[in-house]
Amino acid sequence: MKLIFLGPPGAGKGTLAAKASPLFNAPHISTGNIFREAIAAGSPLGNKVKSIIDAGKLVDDATTIELIRERLAQNDVKNAYILDGFPRTIAQADALAGFSKVDTVINFDVPDNIVIERLSGRLVCRKCGFNWHKNFNPPKDGKTCDKCGGEIYTREDDKSEAVKKRLEVYREQTAPLIEYYRAKGLLVDIEAGSQVDITLENLKKALSCK
Ligand code: ADP
Ligand code: ZN
Repeated sequence: MKLIFLGPPGAGKGTLAAKASPLFNAPHISTGNIFREAIAAGSPLGNKVKSIIDAGKLVDDATTIELIRERLAQNDVKNAYILDGFPRTIAQADALAGFSKVDTVINFDVPDNIVIERLSGRLVCRKCGFNWHKNFNPPKDGKTCDKCGGEIYTREDDKSEAVKKRLEVYREQTAPLIEYYRAKGLLVDIEAGSQVDITLENLKKALSCK
């Protein structure tokens, strides 16, 4: 199954994709994680995108499309994948249609107040990328990842100015993809404002009857 996970920042796409990936045998491809790894490694790509990402803006389409085009050419994603964070613009969606045929697009629907609450408490592991939360799902000692021992930090773009910018960018550039994919008959809406495990169950149900 080739899936796109769509939704505002803080919808829980990354967390859900990580959980759904082994269930559906579909590798999880997160453009945000790829960019953050590149930044951590200090690669040319990382240096190019760091200030853009920290400000909550979008990386340019050409760079992002090329990254995904190369990733989707690899063997492990021939039959299945979960795209998390791509496409984020109509231009990216048009480009994707030219090199891969997506089966279903999941739209994770979350009210704005919940998005802000989730993002403002989010903590990320520097090593494995797992998302923790200050209030909802804190790591035991507040500083290290319970899964891998990595250091926990707050993403620069989870600070309040950048969060505002990301929501604005989402509304202007990414939300139009909902109607874009609905018109193609590919969209499935899932309510994602409650706990992750409930959303995951809804997702499993929605996909098993596709
Ligand atoms: P979110 O929590 O907002 O879903 P991601 O981890 O998916 O965050 O992405 C973090 C940042 O990486 C984005 O705000 C953006 O700067 C950049 N980014 C990720 N995916 C894309 C994309 N498809 N196009 C452009 N920029 C992207
Ligand atoms: Zn970790």
